[in-house]
Amino acid sequence: MNAQFLKVAQSVLLDCVSSRFHSHDFDYYRSELLIVRVRLFAALFGLATPLWIPIDRWLLPGDILGSMMALRLVTGLGLLLLALLPVRPTLNAARIRVFLLVAVTLLFYLGVQLLAGPTFPTSALIGYTVLPLLLIAILALLPLTLAESAFLQLLVAVWLILLHTGFGVLLDQGVLGLLWLLLLFIGFALMAQGIQLHLLLLIHRQATRDNLTGLFNRGALLREAAQVIDRGREQGLAYSVLMIDLDRFKQINDTYGHLAGDNVLRTVSSVLARETSPATLPGRFGGEEFLLLLADTPLEQAKQKAEQLRLAIADLQIDTETTTLTVTTSIGVAEGAAGEALEEVIQRADQALYTAKEKGRNLVVS
Ligand code: GH3
Ligand code: MG
Ligand code: MG
Repeated sequence: MNAQFLKVAQSVLLDCVSSRFHSHDFDYYRSELLIVRVRLFAALFGLATPLWIPIDRWLLPGDILGSMMALRLVTGLGLLLLALLPVRPTLNAARIRVFLLVAVTLLFYLGVQLLAGPTFPTSALIGYTVLPLLLIAILALLPLTLAESAFLQLLVAVWLILLHTGFGVLLDQGVLGLLWLLLLFIGFALMAQGIQLHLLLLIHRQATRDNLTGLFNRGALLREAAQVIDRGREQGLAYSVLMIDLDRFKQINDTYGHLAGDNVLRTVSSVLARETSPATLPGRFGGEEFLLLLADTPLEQAKQKAEQLRLAIADLQIDTETTTLTVTTSIGVAEGAAGEALEEVIQRADQALYTAKEKGRNLVVS
């Protein structure tokens, strides 16, 4: 129980700390979320920043009013551009967007300090004082990893410290109070982000994994495979597809029951799951059919891998309530040709599989 808990805690932590263990599919999903949210916040603050001008007229001394108006207009424009300019959802593009949102806000804060003087934010001008805190609160609403978030929070904190040191008012009570609040906000933001990312991963895994075997389900496998293939194609790499079907599986169900059949599927899947790597994606294609995508693998190598898997699966001793079973597989192999769609390659692997069945099963055919 304790060991189990520690294992779960460790995996949750690893998931939240960095994107290293996230699938490409999740990266894509998270990038889209990040970009949409940055756009939302940039649009909201892009509009709100110039709309504050009438309130400035009421609160600020007349000599800085004009410059502050200009600063607000430029910042608002920058934020609106960030909200409106189109962007492709990749993780790096999303990170740059988040960074730009932070950078624009920090530059605005610098502008305010330069215009109004270092000790300017009085209690009447709370809107200016809390700007860094507001920024941390906004970051808490983004599904960032702890590493990404810590980098940005550190940037805000260092910026603030340098700014106030530069003005020689770091040890001012108001500034120290602000830094203390900032630290508290950063702690909460990190916790909120960890929880948020953990939930997102949980939901995403449930939507992309097959319940019975834990392998990718069909939809996720095809999406993930398309990305791996695209990347390989840019580097001129060949890829192959294995279509794996259990032989006479219906008989196992009919003789030993569905639960025994399920157990067979799980055990076979564990052999395929061992192959998982950034270049090898196994998934459950449907019923008792599995698909293995081999990036950077030409046909000959793929046939060898298929043969290895066929033997490894045939060696399995699968316990049921009454007896121990063995199971064989037929495997169709196809290499992707230049310009060929993944669906067509799968179709050819499927035809090869059909031939393997006709030739008597427990075979690899390409
Ligand atoms: P072949 O060698 O020609 O592939 O014969 P087969 O019996 O394996 O193929 P067939 O397509 O006739 O039967 C597949 C069976 O797989 C039928 C279906 O009940 C069973 N099946 C599909 N999904 C599951 C599952 O999740 N659990 C169990 N226990 N059985 C499943
Ligand atoms: Mg079958
Ligand atoms: Mg089948």
